[in-house]
Amino acid sequence: NLNGLPYLIVGAGFFGAVMAERIANDLGQRVLVIDKRDHIGGNSYSALDPMTGIECHCYGSHIFHTSNRNVWEYISHFTGFNSYRHKVLTRYQGRTFIMPINLSTINSLYNLDLSPEEAARFIKEEAAREGIAAPANLEEKAISLIGRPLYEAFIRGYTIKQWQTDPRDLPESIITRLPVRCGHHYDYFDDRWQGIPWDGYGALFERMVTHPLIEVRLQTDYFAIRDQVPEACKVIYTGPIDRFFDYRYGVLGWRTLRFELEVVQTGDFQGTTVVNYADSETPYTRIHEFRHYHPERTGYPTDRSVIYREYSLSCGREDDPYYPINTAQDREKYELYRRDGELLPNVLFGARLGTYRYLDMDKVIEQALELYENRVKARL
Ligand code: UDP
Repeated sequence: NLNGLPYLIVGAGFFGAVMAERIANDLGQRVLVIDKRDHIGGNSYSALDPMTGIECHCYGSHIFHTSNRNVWEYISHFTGFNSYRHKVLTRYQGRTFIMPINLSTINSLYNLDLSPEEAARFIKEEAAREGIAAPANLEEKAISLIGRPLYEAFIRGYTIKQWQTDPRDLPESIITRLPVRCGHHYDYFDDRWQGIPWDGYGALFERMVTHPLIEVRLQTDYFAIRDQVPEACKVIYTGPIDRFFDYRYGVLGWRTLRFELEVVQTGDFQGTTVVNYADSETPYTRIHEFRHYHPERTGYPTDRSVIYREYSLSCGREDDPYYPINTAQDREKYELYRRDGELLPNVLFGARLGTYRYLDMDKVIEQALELYENRVKARL
């Protein structure tokens, strides 16, 4: 019975959890959080693998990183972080390279021994060779930054596998997520604050939503209870925005992922958390080995390890959306949905699915904190 319910949150990922926590703790109002899955945490969720006791990120690697002090201070109320720094390797034609591209990647691929300055000059010349003055898509942007050989080795095959979209139809913003470095530094992220929650994302979410004013109902589909939501109830919706409007302007493009779990009979399968596979012949995009996210944990088995092979697939209506494809047509459709959303005074859309944006965890928290202040609290 939802009678008299002031706030309903659809989706228990970071956006929903932050909103619920703020509404309960700051507004002092009752809030119901529903999620169609059987756990909270959305795609950030992690839990102990029952066979090995290793903490696994059930929807692929999630590394917390932010340069936003507010976000860091906020999230630190609910968890501490270990000192993990993300480092990624990539496999190409039977060899292993450092990713994102750095001095070692450049020297190894070209079989050179350049200094940082020489490498910077060299890459500039390689990039200029193609004469792209105003890059208009992912491919042109990448080539204008690193030249064609590095693009073809490390970006093209991986990107086609991940997006199954011609890199010339993808926005350049996807590739500007990755830095290019002419030194040996190889942390994946440059953010000031980074780490993995000490006791996992499951525990972090549990602490965020544990409050007498917050009720969580799992395995509850919003579209099955929609008719029962009182008119005055404020709905905070973090599901796909096109689904909310019954696809009235058509379907927005998403990629989904499939993970193949294997318990391997070794205490160390690949020596690091993530190895990318840049060759187009390898069907998976990367392999995650979760034990390496918690080097501080002492109880892990020494003769077994959990790996997930990650496959990227196009996303049907029944699949979980992960990555917005964001072609020009998608942007136009999204804009129509967004406008319709603005006309509903009692519904607020948020997060990756609700705003059709490729947002990292910290950006979702930032968005939720901001919308809470400006659209939830300010409206009272
Ligand atoms: N990318 C690539 N090769 C790599 C890693 C990334 O070409 O080895 C490209 C690819 O297009 C990808 C984008 O860079 O979609 C962003 O990668 P990121 O690691 O940020 O993606 P996420 O971890 O969010 O899946």
